[in-house]
Amino acid sequence: MKDLIIIGSGPAGVSAALTAKRRNLDFLWFGNKNLSPKVEVAHRIDNYPGLTRVTGLEMNHIFKEQIKTEKLEIIGKMVNQIMKMGDHFMVSAGSDVYEAKSIILASGVMMGKFMTGEKELAGKGVSYCATCDGMFYRDKEIAVICENKEFEEEVLFLANIAKKVYLFVNYESRLQKDNIELHREKPYEVKGENKATAVVYKVMETGEERVLDIEGVFVLRDSINPNTLLKGLEMDEGHIVVDRLQATSVDGVFAAGDCTGRPYQYAKAVGEGNVAIYGVTQYLNRN
Ligand code: FAD
Repeated sequence: MKDLIIIGSGPAGVSAALTAKRRNLDFLWFGNKNLSPKVEVAHRIDNYPGLTRVTGLEMNHIFKEQIKTEKLEIIGKMVNQIMKMGDHFMVSAGSDVYEAKSIILASGVMMGKFMTGEKELAGKGVSYCATCDGMFYRDKEIAVICENKEFEEEVLFLANIAKKVYLFVNYESRLQKDNIELHREKPYEVKGENKATAVVYKVMETGEERVLDIEGVFVLRDSINPNTLLKGLEMDEGHIVVDRLQATSVDGVFAAGDCTGRPYQYAKAVGEGNVAIYGVTQYLNRN
């Protein structure tokens, strides 16, 4: 049983992890070993104190060096579910489960939009976790929407189970397997009454709308809707509602960074990550 689990490896998660170490907390840290795609892609950053006109790649490199110096370890797995169990939490990532007394959500916000019907059909044929739900689709035809090359291992895992995988990617992919059909289009709708039965996309060359019948949809992206991760979180227009100590509506759960709302900025994310640890230590002392 850990004191804390931090979810997210962008500036908010990095700041929380550095401060948690200073506070001697016994914690686990989940995220992307490359930290944050949103840091890497920034062309030039002029508004972060202490760094003059750095590129996103340079900033990411500095964060990585600091993490290495502090001997912090990121567990490179996506967290797909958090459950409150009385006075502690169970966190599942891949096929493993971890326990902690408190949680910091520093998971950023999703770039782009949900597909029409996606939220309504989440858990009803729309899944975000290949290892958790893959087995339900043995010998079935599924769509996999993969938004980051790093998740291709999960795509292969699914292709080893399913009869056919219609793979939709927004980057150059070299994945090859007999039962994988690669598409460069982006589906914009999931259809189905109580269960996902089709995805809809426009054929790139002709613009023609195509409805593809499937038996399940896996969405593999960098960020999972906080509500899907943890039931009962109070949200406001897609952001997690927090108080001045970054505490959410669920006792023991704190949130920091873009996921709590605008402005979407590094300095704000880093500041909130720091405050969240203050909130966590107060919470742990009380309980
Ligand atoms: P993110 O940086 O989004 O990091 C979240 C991390 O959590 C990601 O690595 C993600 O993979 C991980 N994660 C999410 N869900 C899970 C899960 N379930 N399990 C495990 N890991 C998970 N801001 C500025 O201040 N100045 C700028 O010049 C600037 N330029 C920008 C340029 C671009 C092109 C973009 C896109 C953004 C820019 N920003 C800028 C905004 C800045 O990038 C964000 O405000 C900042 O990255 C937010 O940090 P965060 O830690 O909240 O989230």
